[in-house]
Amino acid sequence: MDFDLIIVGGGPAGLSTAYHAADKNLNVLLLEEHANIGEPVHCGECLSNLALQKFNLNPPQSAISKKVNGINLISENHHSFLPEKGVVLNKNNFEQWLADKAASKGVEIKTSSKVDSVTKTKDFWNVKSGENNYKSKILVDATGVSSFISKKILNQTFETVIGIQYKISEIEKKDEISFYIIPSLAPHGYLWVIPKADGANVGLTTDQNTKAKIYLDLFIKKIGLNEKPKLKTFGGLIPSSGPKKTFSNAFLAVGDAAGFTSPLFEGGTHLSLKSGELAAKTIKQAFDKNDFSEASLSIYEKYWKKEFPNYNSIIKGKEKFYSLKDNEADEIISIMPKRINGSFSEKLITGVKLLTKPYLIRKGAIQIFNAFSHSQAKFYGW
Ligand SMILES: Cc1cc2nc3c(=O)[nH]c(=O)nc-3n(C[C@H](O)[C@H](O)[C@H](O)COP(=O)(O)OP(=O)(O)OC[C@H]3O[C@@H](n4cnc5c(N)ncnc54)[C@H](O)[C@@H]3O)c2cc1C
Repeated sequence: MDFDLIIVGGGPAGLSTAYHAADKNLNVLLLEEHANIGEPVHCGECLSNLALQKFNLNPPQSAISKKVNGINLISENHHSFLPEKGVVLNKNNFEQWLADKAASKGVEIKTSSKVDSVTKTKDFWNVKSGENNYKSKILVDATGVSSFISKKILNQTFETVIGIQYKISEIEKKDEISFYIIPSLAPHGYLWVIPKADGANVGLTTDQNTKAKIYLDLFIKKIGLNEKPKLKTFGGLIPSSGPKKTFSNAFLAVGDAAGFTSPLFEGGTHLSLKSGELAAKTIKQAFDKNDFSEASLSIYEKYWKKEFPNYNSIIKGKEKFYSLKDNEADEIISIMPKRINGSFSEKLITGVKLLTKPYLIRKGAIQIFNAFSHSQAKFYGW
């Protein structure tokens, strides 16, 4: 056997799986199709301090573009600030740093290695990349939203939304991330301004794939950024329907390939890092038992279900929220505290305000607030 474990995909999920598996003395190969780990970037690049602390990550300065004090939720006339500290990464450098950490544990990383096909024999996986064939006992799909291996092995797909953004320069420096809730400009989604040291990532998600750029142009005009230099346009698809099956015989899916993205605001890096850690723990146990069956690996699902928030309830709140009109979204934000502290009295005050607007309850305000509160960093929201 060439390797205990082959991981396909060198994003945060694959790199985390690789690092944690090698840390448990497993023999790991990671295959990444692009020439450089971390590139091209397809992310807003926000990550909470909680996520960094949880994994004891202390990235170099080159990986951190800007520190932020929290997230401001902004509607047409109101705002509500969530004071959770975090960073805006230079995500290419961050992932390269994660790769260096994994390599220092002994992970073999091969870039420019697109995996074309995977086949399973009774005892091992055959992984084909160009002219090369590799064998392993276990296979991990970390290919992100394309999830091309999971589609084949687990025979499942998930819904996606598009995320598109401009990198804009010469803009006023802010120490907070801004999320704009303006449904007419981002149907079934939201918009953002994420500050970086040299500008900002300004973008949106929506289910209207073909109109996303039109909406983004309207948004930057609305907030007065349309004359600013646009350095690049980038983005990608984001899984939006939550995870389904994530394991099979000698096989696990992690990160976006498993559909783990946080449903409301679609942050996925924190969840990717954690799913990699849980996958490595599962795989180590399988080696200890010498049992790579589907039943043996099913413990992975128990681990993540215990750890991650309830996707279905967040998705319910999200559906309600993203069905609102601009004025209704504005009313929802208006009854949220100006600065969220999560206290009991704060919840009580919000509840009382809500009682004065029963039509908002009929519109799903309770499910919406539940989705909001389960999108915080402690629930892997970012
Ligand atoms: C516009 C946008 C903004 C976002 N903003 C944020 C944010 O601010 N914060 C946040 O936490 N999340 C954000 N996300 C989500 C976040 O980017 C993802 O959840 C996260 O990158 C998932 O990590 P991953 O490792 O699962 O997948 P990916 O990062 O997608 O990595 C998958 C890797 O697999 C490789 N690969 C694919 N197919 C093959 C193959 N056949 N062979 C070899 N390699 C292959 C790819 O090249 C890639 O490197 C955003 C997403 C988008 C689209």
